[in-house]
Amino acid sequence: MSVRVRFAPSPTGFLHIGSARTALFNWLFARHHKGEFILRIEDTDRVRSNEKFLKEIMESLQWMGLNWDGEIEYQMKRLDIYREHAERLLKSGKAKKVDGTQGVKTDEGEVGSAIVFPLEARKVSFDDLLHGRIEVDTTQLGYDTVVLMKADGTPTYNFACVVDDATMGMTHIIRGDDHISNTPKQIVLYEALGYPIPQFAHIPLILGPDGGRLSKRHGATSIEEYHQRGFLGEALVNYLALLAWSPGNNQEIISLKEMIEKFDIADVNKTAATFDLQKLTWVNHQYIKQTPVEKLVQLMTEGGFLPENGKWKLENGEKQKAWLAQVVELLHDRLDTLADIKTVGGFFFAEKIEDDPAAVEQVLKEAKARSYFGDLAGRLEAVNNFEHDPIEQVMRDFCQEKNIKTKELFHPVRVAVTGRSVSPPLFQTMALLGKEKVVRSLKRWAA
Ligand code: GLU
Repeated sequence: MSVRVRFAPSPTGFLHIGSARTALFNWLFARHHKGEFILRIEDTDRVRSNEKFLKEIMESLQWMGLNWDGEIEYQMKRLDIYREHAERLLKSGKAKKVDGTQGVKTDEGEVGSAIVFPLEARKVSFDDLLHGRIEVDTTQLGYDTVVLMKADGTPTYNFACVVDDATMGMTHIIRGDDHISNTPKQIVLYEALGYPIPQFAHIPLILGPDGGRLSKRHGATSIEEYHQRGFLGEALVNYLALLAWSPGNNQEIISLKEMIEKFDIADVNKTAATFDLQKLTWVNHQYIKQTPVEKLVQLMTEGGFLPENGKWKLENGEKQKAWLAQVVELLHDRLDTLADIKTVGGFFFAEKIEDDPAAVEQVLKEAKARSYFGDLAGRLEAVNNFEHDPIEQVMRDFCQEKNIKTKELFHPVRVAVTGRSVSPPLFQTMALLGKEKVVRSLKRWAA
């Protein structure tokens, strides 16, 4: 039997890091077994479901490269199917209609009129692919009745989930640990409906650094936020996969293709993992380093990571594109995220260089070199071909002529033209800043 799994988000919020990882494991499992990965939208909560969340969930999955098979399923289009199944249970006497649930201990607390399923006192067990055998005594659940259909004609999560997973032919249910407590009652419902029971794998939650479940208070939790912050989809996928699973040999960077080959649900850790932004940033850095410059330029341009305004934009066309590619090339190894182009390389785009006060204080303010800046500016102004080699030549000749050590000149120049004490290699930086800007900065600091 070929594998069929699903990811079943409720469109009541953005795609959370934890849910994304559930989607990822389902997707990897499906792709590894050459099976199918179905996207099912659990939209029966009419109040909290929202079109905007649905759109974002789909976009986030696409951005991560988690393509689904076939049409998306929507629970709200399947109300007849739930009703038919509830009728079946009513007819067989396994379920009953109640006007209210006062005095009845249901799994949903107190509800109005409803179709409910009284639980027998019995043991329910299943073999979880990660946790092994789990056995529950229904008398220990804290309720003795499962709500199936609510007064407004919508099914409860547990009922819809069972009907869907059964009628959609799911072979494996891979979902978060937080659903372990739902599984026994779902199994009872499969049995009552006469459907085969799928295999279950409950994967661990993702925790925040303080040991609590990863949530807003720990920082960004939605996939879209990471997208907007300049992370790459592949890097996030790599990080999330390795948060609870390892391909072995301490491998930390792994392509999607290799992940699909090596993924085995049985190798997923049973215990919760802690989300580590620093590690994710490191992984992203590795991915940026291995992404070709043209691709980075495209991602930065399309993703809105470049400064919106500024003179650099005026010089449109091919020349500007070539310049941008050179800037990205120069900064390539220094970017943790796509957004870093604006911070690490901000001075390339800025009309006016923003000075780092500490760098000015330590390197520039008292520098003897400033007394040469006026002269040097003049020499550089005279360079026709303002490129790396001619610039280097002028700078070195200048040091020799004035009998000063190169570092006594170069370092203050660096701070004057970039505003910082750390920058990419100086001559190429100057070449890309352009003659006008370099000369202007030197004159500004000339003493
Ligand atoms: N809509 C449920 C959730 O987002 C799905 C749970 C399941 O996979 O069964 O938690």
